[in-house]
This record gives sequence, structure tokens and C-alpha cells, in this order.
Amino acid sequence: MRKMSFSLSPEVVKAAKKGLGYELYRALIFEYGKRGEKAFFYLKEKRVKKYRDFFVVIGTNEYVVDGNFCTCMDFQFNLRAKRACSHIIAVKLARIMKLYEYYDCYYVDFLRDEKSGKRS
Ligand SMILES: [Zn+2]
Repeated sequence: MRKMSFSLSPEVVKAAKKGLGYELYRALIFEYGKRGEKAFFYLKEKRVKKYRDFFVVIGTNEYVVDGNFCTCMDFQFNLRAKRACSHIIAVKLARIMKLYEYYDCYYVDFLRDEKSGKRS
């Protein structure tokens, strides 16, 4: 079985290199519709975080993006992991544009601490 990979369209990549402006916004909506618009919003609001192990996008919940996989319902149920969700698009753009906050720690540790923290 072919491994899915979601490459951004050349138009989107070209626009991304010019920055977070109207050209990128327009290219994203043209290419990905509502999901593209959401991806733009995530970047604009600085909701993309990079940990040592994963990228995380803060939406309604925190979504973990690992390469071409995302933990959100949209990706797993609506898109059936065949097309990129807004979080995957946002992470791909964030990598090109260096628009993410970097945390020098592992997201899995962070989750573990948060769980144990609530109990103590
Ligand atoms: Zn997602």
C-alpha cells in the first residue's frame, strides 16, 4: 500500500515564502477551502508549537501532528487519512515559514506530567 503524503501545492508554497499575507490566504482557500482558511488562522494566531517529538496545533483541543498523520476527528473520520486536515496543512506551512514556537521538551512527557499533576 502506498504511504500517504500530503505535499502542499506549488502555488501555496510559493505564496508561503512571501509571508503570511493575502496571497497565501487566497491560495489556501482556493486549494483547501475551509481547511485552508483554518490553517491560515492557526498560523496567524501562533497556534503551532513544535516539541522535540511532535508538532502540536492548538484548536478546540490540542492536536498532535506527526508527519502525515493528525489526531483530530476530521482527519481520521471525514478525510479517512486520505487528505490533509487543517492541522497538517498548518504544520507544513509553519515549517516552511518557521512560524512556530519551539519547546525543548517532549510532548509525551508534557502529557504525562499534566495527568499526574492533576492528581497531586
Ligand atoms: Zn487535524
